[in-house]
Amino acid sequence: MKKNTLLLTLVLLLVALTQNSLAQSSSAYKKVYVIQVNDTHGRSTLHHFPRVYSRIMSLYRQLGRENCVVVHTGDLLSRGSGITAKTRGAANVAFWTGLTDDPAKNIDCKVWVPGNGDFYGKGDTPEEKPYKFFPSGKENAQFLIDAFTKKGGSVLLANLFDKKDPKKLAFKNAKSDVLLDIAGVKVGFVGLTYVHPNQTVAKEVNVSYDYDQVLRDTIDLIKEKAEIIIPVSHIGYVNPELKENTCQGEYQLASRNQGFPALLGAHDHKPREGTRIRRTTAANDHELPANLLYSTVTYGNTGFGLGDKESLDGSGNIPGQVIGLLTLYFDTRKNKVATTRYQFVSVPSYYGTSGRKVAASYVADQKACEVQLQKWIKANAKKDYLIKKWGPLTYNDLSNEWPKRIIPPAPVPTEAP
Ligand SMILES: [Zn+2]
Repeated sequence: MKKNTLLLTLVLLLVALTQNSLAQSSSAYKKVYVIQVNDTHGRSTLHHFPRVYSRIMSLYRQLGRENCVVVHTGDLLSRGSGITAKTRGAANVAFWTGLTDDPAKNIDCKVWVPGNGDFYGKGDTPEEKPYKFFPSGKENAQFLIDAFTKKGGSVLLANLFDKKDPKKLAFKNAKSDVLLDIAGVKVGFVGLTYVHPNQTVAKEVNVSYDYDQVLRDTIDLIKEKAEIIIPVSHIGYVNPELKENTCQGEYQLASRNQGFPALLGAHDHKPREGTRIRRTTAANDHELPANLLYSTVTYGNTGFGLGDKESLDGSGNIPGQVIGLLTLYFDTRKNKVATTRYQFVSVPSYYGTSGRKVAASYVADQKACEVQLQKWIKANAKKDYLIKKWGPLTYNDLSNEWPKRIIPPAPVPTEAP
């Protein structure tokens, strides 16, 4: 009897100890979620805004808003729909930062690193032709930066400096870095961008292509305070336009690991996930540095699916549009990231245009987004920043492509008497 009781007590004690240590080890990790979007390219029709909105709302519900941050790694403006063109990108900034006054209903993108396409404006390059009614690229980018920061977001441009003062950043209200509290962890973001040397804005600001140095300098500014550092970039994986003897892109930045667990990239429209790079025909694909996450996700470039048709559409592995979801498992005992995970999260089809069934919550969110858009359009229909050339903003602009070749609309046929 006594022996049995002792044995039972021992077993119970062991079970209790094991459970206790299990509970401890699971509570020693905090999960930090970074929701990444990039290269959305002004895509803001009814095929895009509501479905992306519904996916992000569902992620917020699933993961807890306080554990998430939405990050846009560039090219929010260029190309796109009528609403993008007429509002000079203001509608896109409003979508990502929140269309309503109710924070619980907003996407609330907290970090944006503008890409080359976000600096288009009246200029000399062929790419800027469709933007000839915009103010200059620098002025329009400042307008978008102001709109974004006014909503509480941070615009990160660590490598664009003032033309006259090389120590000052080129844009008012932009920063080199930001520290955010996500899931109780201090996460520092550093933003690097690429503008083509011939782009008009490159003549208006001082662009540093010494990405290694800028990244090192900026990390130095925050490494004491940040528990995790994530560079966010719009340089491109390997950018052939950058000089061969310099750091040619995110691949090299990631290889020369400067103590960050992940680098979120953009620009080249090629999806990559961790070490499982999709085998594409591109000549510039490399094996990734071990234990280092590099990711580029894109949607919207073609208006359907991902940017690179040949790398995705054929395989059908990632149908439709996707959003990147980076999970950082932060070990609170060692005070560092234990492991990372990057997933492509697919975006549900728009409820009105597909035969596929989607969850009722998606449909409800998509409808809610439409209502928000209608209200926003009404409130902004005649704002002074609109390009007057194309008339007031209307709901129809959500279904229109960028005004064709900037030709004034055909005269309205006069009604028969
Ligand atoms: Zn780009």
